[in-house]
Amino acid sequence: MKALVYDGPGRRAWTDHPDPGLVDDTDAIVRIDAVTICGTDLHILKGDVPTVERGRILGHEAVGTVVATGSAVTGRRPGDRVLISCISSCGRCSYCRTATYGQCRGGGGWVLGHRIDGVQAELARIPFADTSTHPLPEQVTDEAALSLADIMPTSYEVGARNGRVQPGDTVVIVGAGPIGLAAITTSRLFSPTTVVVIDREPARLSAAKEFGADVLLRPDEDPEVAVAELTGGLGADVAIEAVGIPETFELCTRLVRPGGHVANVGVHGQPATLHLEDLWIRNITITTGLVDTSSTPLLLRMLAAGRLDTSGLVTHRFALDEMDEAYDVFARPQESDALKVALFRT
Ligand code: NAD
Ligand code: ZN
Repeated sequence: MKALVYDGPGRRAWTDHPDPGLVDDTDAIVRIDAVTICGTDLHILKGDVPTVERGRILGHEAVGTVVATGSAVTGRRPGDRVLISCISSCGRCSYCRTATYGQCRGGGGWVLGHRIDGVQAELARIPFADTSTHPLPEQVTDEAALSLADIMPTSYEVGARNGRVQPGDTVVIVGAGPIGLAAITTSRLFSPTTVVVIDREPARLSAAKEFGADVLLRPDEDPEVAVAELTGGLGADVAIEAVGIPETFELCTRLVRPGGHVANVGVHGQPATLHLEDLWIRNITITTGLVDTSSTPLLLRMLAAGRLDTSGLVTHRFALDEMDEAYDVFARPQESDALKVALFRT
């Protein structure tokens, strides 16, 4: 088969690779029908994630068709269309029993394309297939489901749900990349009155408007003053950090009202400053975490029922064999205006 292989910092190859086979009896082999590229893949390719070894197949956002299952897989059969969860987890350990799949201690907890091979390939081995794949309802298209592998559950769980968005709230989302845009959609599920989006790129702010943001701000437009004016001087109820740098995290802590919530989604490469001398007296709650994908079945039901709109995220489409072109477009969003690029089996 063909697969996108990480070949050390700065090097990738869409190349011939041995087909994956069943290893454990809980595995499934899935033929990849559609797959997206994520910012995390670019971080890995740069060499920023030293735990990823050379030779690793990248990718963790895909849908496909089951072609083979191990003897212990009870809920999936060859021919099933499935959404592949970005995290593979056992489903039985104490963490999985509370749906904290990312912390699985039963031999899983792997992000695909990180410590185990991923899904940017013609075929993928998915461990613990019963918990790590989700049957796709017939009416849900491959493209509509793709964002439920990672970015919709991330924005829902680590963003809107951790941030405890309530009806009537003012929510500020800092960063309007795919995660921040998805956070507009998933915050709306909790009926806030006002969604403010802050990004430094005009094209990303235009996308945020398309996704239903009410107020658009650039970081140089004094967002603290603007948000205070919008909220009668109080500050936002919830701030969702979707960039991953100290300055935007620290901005979020200043944007929320006393008693407000900061939901950090961004993956940080450097320490941020926590002004506990200020945060304690304002009763600020700060949450962070890895997506646990516990919300995927719920989001899939909402998608199938027409209650969740995932359109607008995929801006560029390629054939699977055009992996190199797709990476080039995704890696240059300033030139391409790409949000998500999707590749489809032809
Ligand atoms: P992205 O890089 O595509 O988007 C980031 C956005 O932030 C861009 O639109 C950029 O213009 C904007 N930005 C950069 N600097 C800014 C600044 N100073 N002020 C305002 N905006 C600024 O990233 P993404 O794919 O949308 O992901 C967002 C973050 O979420 C990343 O850190 C990613 O690693 C993280 N993430 C976390 C999880 C999790 O489990 N917690 C899962 C997936 C992704
Ligand atoms: Zn991803």
